Amino acid sequence: MLIYDLDFTSLTSLLKEWNEPAYRAKQIWQGLYQHLYSSPDQFTNLPKTFREKLAESLAFAPFKVKTYLDSADGFTRKTLFELPDKNLIEAVLMRYGDPADNPQITGSPTGRGAKHRRTLCISTQAGCAMGCVFCATGQMGFKRHLSSGEIIAQVMYYARMLKEENQVVTNIVLMGMGEPFHNYDNTMAAIDRLNDPDGYNFGARRFTISTVGLVPQIRRFADEKRQVNLAISLHAADDESRVSMLPINKKYKIDDVIDACRYYVAQTHRRITFEWALINGVNDTTEVAQKLAARLKGLLCHVNAIPLNPTIGYSGQATSRERAVSFKESLEQAGIPCTIRMRRGIDIHAGCGQLAGTLSS
Ligand code: SAH
Ligand code: SF4
Repeated sequence: MLIYDLDFTSLTSLLKEWNEPAYRAKQIWQGLYQHLYSSPDQFTNLPKTFREKLAESLAFAPFKVKTYLDSADGFTRKTLFELPDKNLIEAVLMRYGDPADNPQITGSPTGRGAKHRRTLCISTQAGCAMGCVFCATGQMGFKRHLSSGEIIAQVMYYARMLKEENQVVTNIVLMGMGEPFHNYDNTMAAIDRLNDPDGYNFGARRFTISTVGLVPQIRRFADEKRQVNLAISLHAADDESRVSMLPINKKYKIDDVIDACRYYVAQTHRRITFEWALINGVNDTTEVAQKLAARLKGLLCHVNAIPLNPTIGYSGQATSRERAVSFKESLEQAGIPCTIRMRRGIDIHAGCGQLAGTLSS
């Protein structure tokens, strides 16, 4: 059993079975999530025999680091992890702002300007079952769900790395490999554990979950009234176009997705983000922008448009800068806020939709 798979209650009962005093659970929790220990020997506040028992009974190493790549500008790092069953997953760190500006970034993740964001993009599955045509993860197919502990461990890995530089993770996006709502329970368990004030204490509002649009799960998420941000991968304004890119649209039509989004906003009063990969001549025209604006009318939302990143299995091309700008302007004229997102880490295949668990750059 991987130690990060245990929630505090299960850890407490395990220690009870071992006849250990109850306060040991707290010591372990603090070691793992506040001091970011990664091996039993670091728990020097625990008796040696107990540390040995921990080492024998629980796994502390969730994966091996197979390799990592830094983008040429040094702001993006992609790490490839090998799980014990040899499946490969990737997680990406994006640094914003010039670290040289402020080499001593310390303190809590809150109250930090956007300039010094340290955003992690983590995976929730090895591969993905959704088969979106322009996505490298979709192109590789589904391998398996990640456990909650395997999701958490990606965060701990980067948190330790940043700690050495006196820095902290400021944002976590569940936009790596996999569809988080297809692995709903493990994803939420990971978020809850990372959110624990007695543990890693990572604020709910600093997470963003992105989904391809699984309607029942959007509604469930709305009912749970979490503070976590929600992004929906829309990419098209009509079913015919959307189904040609996102096969899941056969099952959940755009109308149903948008209805679920309206329900989410009504339940949570939180703004929803729509993601839109701009593909030249496919979904980047003014007409499409107007159609989209009509669909989103009156909804508390924002569109994040990103020029398509290249992948081996898809021949569509990214929209030009000018077309992206006029798409944004058409939306904004119709009252829908839109941002054109910066592409990050393209040279190391760390951009959106480029994670395929390969060693190549
Ligand atoms: N499975 C989730 C989260 C992971 S994908 C989802 O699909 O939402 C993260 C984002 O990258 C999604 O919005 C996805 O549609 C987008 N994406 C996938 N392939 C892309 C590509 N080649 N270029 C740009 N964005 C892409
Ligand atoms: Fe899966 Fe998201 Fe890629 Fe679609 S875009 S295949 S849902 S990871």
